[in-house]
Amino acid sequence: MNKIKLALFDAKPYDREYFDRQNADGQFTIKYYESKLSPDTAALAEGYDAVCGFVNDDFSGPVLDKLEEMGVKIAALRCAGYNNVDLQSAYRKIHIVRVPAYSPHAVAEYAVALIMALNRKTHRAYYRVRDNNFNITGLAGFDMFGRTAGIIGTGKIGRILIGILKGFGMKVLAYDAFPNPAAAQEEGFEYVSELEELYRKSDIISLHCPLTPETQHMINEEAISMMKSDVMIINTGRGGLINTQALISALKTKRIGSAGLDVYEEEGSWFFEDFSVAGIDDDVLARLLTFPNVLITSHQAFFTGEALTNIAETTLENLKACFDGKPLVNEVCYRCEGNCEKKVSGRCF
Ligand code: NAD
Repeated sequence: MNKIKLALFDAKPYDREYFDRQNADGQFTIKYYESKLSPDTAALAEGYDAVCGFVNDDFSGPVLDKLEEMGVKIAALRCAGYNNVDLQSAYRKIHIVRVPAYSPHAVAEYAVALIMALNRKTHRAYYRVRDNNFNITGLAGFDMFGRTAGIIGTGKIGRILIGILKGFGMKVLAYDAFPNPAAAQEEGFEYVSELEELYRKSDIISLHCPLTPETQHMINEEAISMMKSDVMIINTGRGGLINTQALISALKTKRIGSAGLDVYEEEGSWFFEDFSVAGIDDDVLARLLTFPNVLITSHQAFFTGEALTNIAETTLENLKACFDGKPLVNEVCYRCEGNCEKKVSGRCF
């Protein structure tokens, strides 16, 4: 068959490197665009069969309509989450495929990196020592052993994290809208039926559920009011899970102990780009960056060589399956949770 023409948006040097490696046989013609997909840039996909985007590309209704109008058949997300896609608008117009698991280990291990750094304050110690300041006052942490971790979302990432934290000798409480009691029994963790119990009992709370209308701002003033005042909140899920203003208020009043954030509600304007010269005009992000007990990174939890290989491999396989008329095992649509046609025909439509 003809080469599949792919327009890949928000392309970084590492995307190019890993996609080119996976496309060594030249089955695809890939055009890399540094710009994010948006209503203004959608026209760049003219003449392409498929588009590929990442977490901060805009797959809203108007963008999808424009892509369909130009003959694009499929949008391939090179990530797991699809909260940036208007699935209702896409239905019966453009297939949406994703990479459901590129390396759940990478993200779970990164959550542990945030926990350990925040707890033992290695990010601060690093700068002190480089400045010949060998004073350790203010750097005390806590033993992980015997503490309680609250894990929200016990899918692929959540469960790997649970395994690691149990290795530290932590007690694990978990919450999931669709609990998996067999996994809990086998892997030695306990589900709570109400989030309130997890909030009240946990020393560390880590978020691993998708961003949906139900989970949007789940960590808000009310939720925080139930937590221990020295709780550590870790978010490697999606920024919108946390109401950032509520988090800032809690940090100011010392209502929480610390926060490790790999994602941020408004990250689309900032993350993955260099503003070291221009500076940022986001007062919320700027305020967050002032807290010594907040560790922010730029959505890098997934960022390992293994994950980048899997992302490129699965994305190109998803696209090949589409144009070869095969089932789209990684397709998502707004009916996935209910009356899903994919279970019968192998495709959402
Ligand atoms: P998964 O689909 O395997 O697991 C998600 C879990 O959340 C499922 O068990 C599901 O039942 C549960 N869930 C759904 N709705 C819920 C709700 N309302 N309350 C509680 N639990 C709910 O997904 P995963 O691979 O473990 O990834 C989890 C999230 O991590 C993704 O949705 C994505 O947003 C994020 N992620 C971030 C990065 C990063 O680099 N920071 C990388 C990959 C994924």
